[in-house]
Amino acid sequence: MQRFETAQDAALALRPDQPVYAFRPSVLATDAKSFLSAFRGQTAYAVKTNGEPFVLDELVKAGVTAFDVASPAEFAAARAASADAGMFYMHPVKAQSDIRLALETYGIRHVALDHEDEIAKILRIVRAQDIAPSDITLFVRLATKGHAAYELSKKFGATAAHAVELLQRLDRVGFRAGLTFHVGSQVEDLDTYERAIGTAAWVKGRAGVDITALDIGGGFPAPYGRDLKKDARPTPEIGSLVAKIEQEIDAWGLGDLPLIAEPGRVVVARSLSVVVRVLLKKGQRLYINDGVWSSLSDSWTGKITLPARLIPDPARRRAPRSSAPKLAPYRVMGATCDSVDILSRPFWLPDTVDTGDWIEIGHIGAYSLALRTRFNGFYPDTFVEVATPYEDEEGLEGVATVESRGAVR
Ligand SMILES: *Cc1c(COP(=O)(O)O)cnc(C)c1O
Repeated sequence: MQRFETAQDAALALRPDQPVYAFRPSVLATDAKSFLSAFRGQTAYAVKTNGEPFVLDELVKAGVTAFDVASPAEFAAARAASADAGMFYMHPVKAQSDIRLALETYGIRHVALDHEDEIAKILRIVRAQDIAPSDITLFVRLATKGHAAYELSKKFGATAAHAVELLQRLDRVGFRAGLTFHVGSQVEDLDTYERAIGTAAWVKGRAGVDITALDIGGGFPAPYGRDLKKDARPTPEIGSLVAKIEQEIDAWGLGDLPLIAEPGRVVVARSLSVVVRVLLKKGQRLYINDGVWSSLSDSWTGKITLPARLIPDPARRRAPRSSAPKLAPYRVMGATCDSVDILSRPFWLPDTVDTGDWIEIGHIGAYSLALRTRFNGFYPDTFVEVATPYEDEEGLEGVATVESRGAVR
């Protein structure tokens, strides 16, 4: 990767016509260490958030020793990053052949489920391989309710009563029984975690079996941008949110259990930005060379406001104007010919923005690279390394609608 002090330096040196990802390893290390030091249990980074090898390698360097994995490709990616990393196979619904690979080839011993037929699948391999069930922790995934940007309990999770039965069944077979939930993603309120912890405590009490671990999943919020028209609440700071979650765990009498968390977004979001080019300005619309089918689907589906800053093309002649540049909202149109390829939130940029300028879109480290498609032949794949955090870069006329150290500049 070519190295630059700032993403703006990269844009001006490379003058890229294709999107360029600016990776900030120091930011990734900082955010990973913040989570590791905030959380008293074991941290298993959720590989699906961003499984690029350079990301996983940096996380291992920062002290991450375990990964939440869901597929053979993720087993391999985690193993490549660290030969002795712990792996938590937390996908509740798995192919029989993938379970075999996990247990046999990768030696995985922590697995999630939310149905008795999954127990049967796992038991088949355990018996065939002559593995002792007591070496394996099976986590019953609980359904939860809450206010996440994404609700995941629509898809996975056992009801509390069903979870009680599953735990008792696991116990009868001789597996170690754990409990887990995943409240969604970009969860900004403590209540959602609180309710899930309360459910876990109820289920544990009802089941009356030995519970050996509690995995509280992911969902922790990353700081993003804000729409200048709306007054958004600031994103809770991760240290204090985790401390409150731990207090809830203690208050519900679960404090003695070994704890696991599976953060994704909060660890990796700030570590990448993407520098895109304005292909055309048409009134208040900006057509860019990236979009929802490439790096920006998360901002479309997740109702997340990404921070953005203008990098004007110095080679461009601009019409003289009498008034100072003002911030204006621009509707952002993606690169493909598809009509859904339009970002759901505007970018607030100086009204001097024009065709040929670049925009640095910040905090796209989570669920962006991972969700790129080759739709319509567009596939951004250029990376540079950048030293300066997005929040600390000075734009020429740049404005970031990001909560930058509490202030918007
Ligand atoms: C996606 C996922 C995560 C990570 O979620 P974030 O919101 O990125 O923290 C953690 N655990 C499970 C089971 C997941 O599916």
